[in-house]
Amino acid sequence: MKRKILGLLFLLFISSCQKSTSLEPIEATRFLMDTVVRIAVYDFELSSKDTEKAIDQAFEAMKEVEEKTSAHRPESDVSLMIRSSGGEAIAISEETKTVLQEAVFVSEATDGAFDATVGVVKDLWGFYSDAPKVPALKDIDAYLPLIDYHQIELSGEKARLQKKNAGLDLGGIVKGFNIDRAVEVLQSAGVKSAMVDAGGDLRIIGSHPKNPHWRIGIKHPRPDHQSLYGVIETNPVSVATSGDYERFFMHDGKRYHHILDPKTGMPASGCVSVTIVTEMAMRADAYATAVFVMGPERGMAFIESHPDLEGLILFEEGHQLKMVVSEGLRNKVQLL
Ligand code: ADP
Ligand code: MG
Repeated sequence: MKRKILGLLFLLFISSCQKSTSLEPIEATRFLMDTVVRIAVYDFELSSKDTEKAIDQAFEAMKEVEEKTSAHRPESDVSLMIRSSGGEAIAISEETKTVLQEAVFVSEATDGAFDATVGVVKDLWGFYSDAPKVPALKDIDAYLPLIDYHQIELSGEKARLQKKNAGLDLGGIVKGFNIDRAVEVLQSAGVKSAMVDAGGDLRIIGSHPKNPHWRIGIKHPRPDHQSLYGVIETNPVSVATSGDYERFFMHDGKRYHHILDPKTGMPASGCVSVTIVTEMAMRADAYATAVFVMGPERGMAFIESHPDLEGLILFEEGHQLKMVVSEGLRNKVQLL
């Protein structure tokens, strides 16, 4: 949590470097989806009252989606699907349906590197508890047959998990969905230029009030560097980062983090962080998680083979931090 706030402060710093005092955005922050969400509107045609109202509506829309999709809320669509797994299909909201459809799409596109049913083993690790621990291998193995996105069944307004005791966790995609949702609400209120930033995953619309490009900070993934790793100069896009530093614990000198390889149920190895740049935040969010699972080599090949994706991967070799950047992003990244 502290790190997310720190990351946000870095972003604030970057954007405040860009602002002229007469072009201050109208902005607000709220704690949603386990992180600080900031909406900043750089649109000076709307009245401040209308802008504040639009921001408020965007936050409300995000809160509604969170309530329906969070596995931590007993009455959410996701919790109901988990409880009725192996049984009857249940009615779900339009929003949950869209997120599930997109989750399945990304699972297919990434050959299962992204798989929301991995949630069934995530609980064994207790990343959200005070005492996370490395589970016994036999416990993980017992759950592996339940990890399979093909079992997510969608028909009409109903959904179902085919396997009894299956899990579902939309944590790798819903933040992105919600950023797009907020943008939709802002746009329909007439907002043309804004940034929605959910703890470092963000989307920008419109042009910067002062500069030809927007500048997005990339967090340094290691805590001994309280600074940014670099900056991306960009047109309006979405940017999402998945890192091994977001939620993790150390055990016997080894780092265990919350991005799991669906094939093994273990934290995915190879990457330190993956930043994806693309149009929609939902895609950026899910592909960042998936590319992290693929590892640096396969992950960068995947990015390069998808014209709509650009990205940057940090990984460790020996004790050194290394970086690979996709072709289209190469002259837009500035290392600090
Ligand atoms: P963050 O939420 O910190 O921005 P991510 O977007 O990478 O990070 O999402 C990580 C979350 O995604 C995990 O907490 C878990 O809920 C879920 N998750 C972990 N591994 C996978 C995976 N292989 N496929 C889909 N979701 C995953
Ligand atoms: Mg993600």
